[in-house]
Amino acid sequence: ENAPVTVIGLGLMGQALSRAFLKAGHPTTVWNRTPTKAKPLVAEGAQVAPTINDALKAAPLTIVCLTDYEAVHELLGGSDIDLDGTTLVNLTSGTSAQARQAAQWIEQRGARYLDGAIMAAPPAIGTAEAVILHSGPQRDFEASKPTLDALGMITHLGADHGLASLYDVAGLAMMWSVLNAWLQGTALLQTAGVDATTFAPFAQQIATGVAEWLPGYAEQIADNAFPAEVSALETDARAMAHLIDETKAAGINTELPTLIKKMADRSISAGHGKEQYPVLIEEFTHPSDN
Ligand code: NDP
Repeated sequence: ENAPVTVIGLGLMGQALSRAFLKAGHPTTVWNRTPTKAKPLVAEGAQVAPTINDALKAAPLTIVCLTDYEAVHELLGGSDIDLDGTTLVNLTSGTSAQARQAAQWIEQRGARYLDGAIMAAPPAIGTAEAVILHSGPQRDFEASKPTLDALGMITHLGADHGLASLYDVAGLAMMWSVLNAWLQGTALLQTAGVDATTFAPFAQQIATGVAEWLPGYAEQIADNAFPAEVSALETDARAMAHLIDETKAAGINTELPTLIKKMADRSISAGHGKEQYPVLIEEFTHPSDN
């Protein structure tokens, strides 16, 4: 017996979420501001609720996926909306502060609230490739998990409602940094006639190799001790100077190499040149002065 579920918001993502529930055999009720977007889902077995309150009443669990948190508040914040007794799972993207604030007003209205962040594109929803992060009370997560499992790889990060959004942006910071580093290398090699496809397998090897250092480096950060086991920061800084020289000589953009060296130089000035790279965490944990 699959539990019924409601989906509010049928944009590209909300439609994919609804389809995954239908495919997994959950009786699915949908609602969208623009009603025409529900039509293809009805053909696939969804029920359309005439009003938001009907949608909320149709299932104990309601998934919300709108453009942003302002839209969520605009849609569900009105006193005519009956949230009492509902469990809301908000998969709208936003900041951790917005998630905590949403938790507060939604819980005040008598609902249980889980926040969530989707780290996948709509076509991956419903497969193990779709990583979906949740945060909020453990017991509410456990009660919702059998239904949420239809969406992908479901993970609970902790009781703090802001955690899903924070992990989301931390993941994006990783993603953009790796991509920017790869683009920098590609731009550099292109000046010597090496094309992107030739560099890509090498770049992939480097990215994978570096990724393997992370757990060990994390232990140095956890221990707040950075012995130079493989390389001292001042050795890295000398190679950073070569990177800057090469990008200048190639006549390409030097912003990223300059930033990388600027942070290392500051750490060296503070006396950390003989320590290992992760000592730079201190540069990242302080506010920047610009
Ligand atoms: P869309 O633009 O396709 O859909 C937006 C949805 O929000 C629509 O259902 C729209 O209704 C609704 N909406 C917006 N404002 C209001 C409002 N004031 N009142 C009622 N409904 C409103 O966006 P997506 O579906 O792609 O994205 C939804 C969320 O999912 C976003 O937070 C996004 O960041 C997140 N996400 C999306 C991914 C993607 O690849 N698409 C990946 C990961 C996360 P209407 O149809 O009436 O306009």
